[in-house]
Amino acid sequence: MVKTAIQGGWVVGWTTNGHQILDEGIVVFEDDRIVFVGFPSDQNCPKAERTINAQGMLVSPGLINLHCIANLDLQVLRMDMKVGEGSGYSKPYSWVTNTDAPHILSDEDFRVSSRFCVATLLKGGSTTFAAVTTGATKRWEDPSVEPYALAEASEEMGARAWISHLYREVCDYTNPDGTRGEIWDRQKGQAGLDNAIKLIKHLQIKGNPLITGFLFPSRTDKCSDDLLKETIHQSKVLGDVHVRSHFSEHLQEFRDFRANNPSRTMVEWLEDVGFLGPQVCLTHAIYIGGHSATGESHRDDLEILARSHTSVCHCPVVFARGGSALETFSRYVNAGINMGIGTDTFPPDLLEEMRVGALLNKVIDRQRSVGSVRDFYNAATIGGARALGREDLGRLVSGGTADISIFNLSDLASGPIDDPISSLVHFAGRRECQTVIVGGKIVVDDGQVIGIDEERLSRQARKSWKRYVKGLVDWDYAGRSTDIVFPTAFPIIRNR
Ligand SMILES: [Zn+2]
Repeated sequence: MVKTAIQGGWVVGWTTNGHQILDEGIVVFEDDRIVFVGFPSDQNCPKAERTINAQGMLVSPGLINLHCIANLDLQVLRMDMKVGEGSGYSKPYSWVTNTDAPHILSDEDFRVSSRFCVATLLKGGSTTFAAVTTGATKRWEDPSVEPYALAEASEEMGARAWISHLYREVCDYTNPDGTRGEIWDRQKGQAGLDNAIKLIKHLQIKGNPLITGFLFPSRTDKCSDDLLKETIHQSKVLGDVHVRSHFSEHLQEFRDFRANNPSRTMVEWLEDVGFLGPQVCLTHAIYIGGHSATGESHRDDLEILARSHTSVCHCPVVFARGGSALETFSRYVNAGINMGIGTDTFPPDLLEEMRVGALLNKVIDRQRSVGSVRDFYNAATIGGARALGREDLGRLVSGGTADISIFNLSDLASGPIDDPISSLVHFAGRRECQTVIVGGKIVVDDGQVIGIDEERLSRQARKSWKRYVKGLVDWDYAGRSTDIVFPTAFPIIRNR
């Protein structure tokens, strides 16, 4: 068994009090375990057969991307879109109700989309990710090819992945006049859950320790109490598998709920249903009492989430693009809620998520001291690990799992460095990610995903993307052209 040392940089070591930075420290790992974290001068430091030179670099626990979009991300098409201009995704009723009609993307496109996502996630330094897919172009659940393709791509590239099969009880559609409708179908919701269970069992039988299944009823407001209860029951039956759902991410969702439930909050509803607990992660939990847009004062929502050990995943970038924000990250942290961070959109850049999240936190609370680097880095490491029930991840400690991300901070762009974690969060980006190690195996070397022809994958992804956008434009209820449905910042004039 070969011991590998990573030596010479700033090493983020773990103590019982939390992370600490070891300047010119060393991490030694053997197989998938870390065997030493400290200084090379320590007499207990084992001799390594192989050394990775990390001079000028930050040796970080692998970042945990607690909620990432794992398909070619449609949300980027809505960058500056006005509400009411048509969201751009018009799912025709005729397609929704004809279950034989094919998806816009072919099975091969889903495979390309999966490989593209896993490669970009790894390149950005996410060693672990919990993948979710869009419901915008689906009926009541994912096409079965998609999560299996994601599992295959993760296996091929050596990522540590939590994979789910999206299901819900409602499918939305667009009428020919542009108005929207919904079809509730309990049986279709159950069929989706059954397929999700099948996926989890398949992954359990396959037994790759890097790939784990979880349950993903895509939105709490698009599932009946029954389906949510059944989800929690099945999580227990399957061995307390992780459960996640989108929760209170839209103001209208909050308003609709309160109109029908004047005496209880959405968090109290989930408590009544039993959809809270240490195995549950709610994304994004934005509109709860105390958020200025709700006009309601803070009740016990944060306390209930903290008391039940429910995790919350914060994805600031995608919401900032839509003009909304959590109020606020530090308020949730101070309430004792376990917070994780995710990249719910492209690019999968956890450093950018931390930076944007920190800045928004400061602006909203009008305080310099909130939204600290410390709290955000904790969320991207130990917070995510706790949410997934894996406290061996997200920290560099002897006996822990060898998931490590190395970021180059020696470039001129990083500037003089006093505090390497502060530099990472506020000055760096995903392109500074140099080396990624998952379970003791190098999967990104010199910024390149090992075993992948990145240029070819990028070409394939662009072709699938073109088909995806064309399919969406073909679905447009008013038959409008691409430049009307998805206008670019400036007109693009093509060479003839
Ligand atoms: Zn999401």
